[in-house]
Amino acid sequence: MEREKARAWIELDLEALERNFFRLRALLPPGCALMPVLKADAYGHGALPLALRLQRLGARAFCVATAEEGAALRQGGVRGELLVLGATQESLLPLAAENRLLLTVPDLDAARRMDARGLPLRAHLAIDTGMRRIGERAEATERLEAACRCKNLRIEGAFTHLCTEDRAFSRRQGERFWAAVAALRARGILLAKPHLLNSYGLLHCPELGGAYARAGLALYGYAGEGEAAGLEPVLALKARLGPVRTLQRGESAGYGLRFQARRETRLALLPIGYADGLPRSLSEGRGGALVRGRFAPFAGLLCMDQCLLDVTDIPGAAPGDEAVLIGVSGPARQDAWALARAAGTIPNELLSRLGPRLPRLILPASCGGEKRMV
Ligand SMILES: *Cc1c(COP(=O)(O)O)cnc(C)c1O
Repeated sequence: MEREKARAWIELDLEALERNFFRLRALLPPGCALMPVLKADAYGHGALPLALRLQRLGARAFCVATAEEGAALRQGGVRGELLVLGATQESLLPLAAENRLLLTVPDLDAARRMDARGLPLRAHLAIDTGMRRIGERAEATERLEAACRCKNLRIEGAFTHLCTEDRAFSRRQGERFWAAVAALRARGILLAKPHLLNSYGLLHCPELGGAYARAGLALYGYAGEGEAAGLEPVLALKARLGPVRTLQRGESAGYGLRFQARRETRLALLPIGYADGLPRSLSEGRGGALVRGRFAPFAGLLCMDQCLLDVTDIPGAAPGDEAVLIGVSGPARQDAWALARAAGTIPNELLSRLGPRLPRLILPASCGGEKRMV
C-alpha cells in the first residue's frame, strides 16, 4: 500500500535507526555489544525489518519478550542470539529449542522444570538486584549455583535489570550483580555473558559494564523525558484529513455531545482511533495533531476508528491534508514523548500499542519520499 492510499499509517526512518545504532555503539563500555530489544514488535515499529537492518549493521544479539517473538524472527532470517526476556511456559520449550533461542531462567524451580524436559535448552540466568520482578536474589548464591549446575539446561550468561533512574540505586544494583557473578566464579561457574545495561544504563551509567547493553527505547530515538542525547525518532504516525465541516456557535459534536462549539468551528474528520492505539485519554483537547505546521486539538471524545480535529485556527486546512500525530510538520514537531505525556503515559506504552491495522511504510535511503510497504 502506498501512503497516498492509506487512511492512517506509520512511517519508519531506518536511516535514523542506523544513526541511533552507531551513536549508541559509540557509548558502549569496553567488551560490551549492543543488543537491540525487539520485544512487542520492536515497540510497535515492526520487529522483522528492523532486526534485518540491524543485523546488516553488525548486531549479533537481540532481545524479545516471548519465545513466539523469537521464533518469528529466527524464521524471518535473524541469525544471532535471540534472548527471550520473560519466563517461558513449558509448552513452548520445544519451540525455543528448535529455534535455538536463549531463554531466561526466572528462578531455581523453573530451572529444574526446564532441565527435566531433557531438551538442549540454552539460557541466561535472571538475577534480582532490587526490582523483584524476575530472578533469584543476587545474595542467594547457592540457588544461583544450583541453577547453573543443571544438566540439559545450559546457562551461558546472566542478567539483571536496572529499575530506576536513580544513579545511586543503579550503582547498588550493579554492585549486587557483579558480586553475584564473582561468587559464582569462586565456585567454579564462569558466566560468559553477564549484562545489565538498558537504554537508561547505557546513557547514564555505562561504567557498570557487562557483555551486552540491551537497548530498546534509545534505539528507537528516545532518551529520558526532556533529554536529547542526539537520538532521532525512527517512527512517525500520520493520518489524512477527511471531510471538513463547519459548526455554528452553540452546536455540539461527537459521542455524548462532549464537544461544544464556543465559536464558529471547523472540524476535520481524522480516520484514526483508539483501536489503532491512539489513547482515548487524548480526547477533548488533551492531545491533538499537527496540520500544516500547526497544532490542532482533538474535539470531543476519540472514537474507535476515527476522531475529530478542531482545525478552526489552521488557515486552508482541507481534506487530504496530512495530519501528524507523531513526527514533524513544517516547523512543528510532536514526538512520542509529547503525545505520551498528553495521554498520561510513556513513549514505550504509546508506541508498543500502535495497532497492526496501521500499515508500516519504510522510508528508503535514496529515492526521495517513495515508500515501500512492509
Ligand atoms: C524492555 C527491557 C529492556 C529495554 O529497555 P529500554 O529502556 O527500552 O532500553 C532491557 N532489559 C529488559 C529486561 C527489558 O525488559
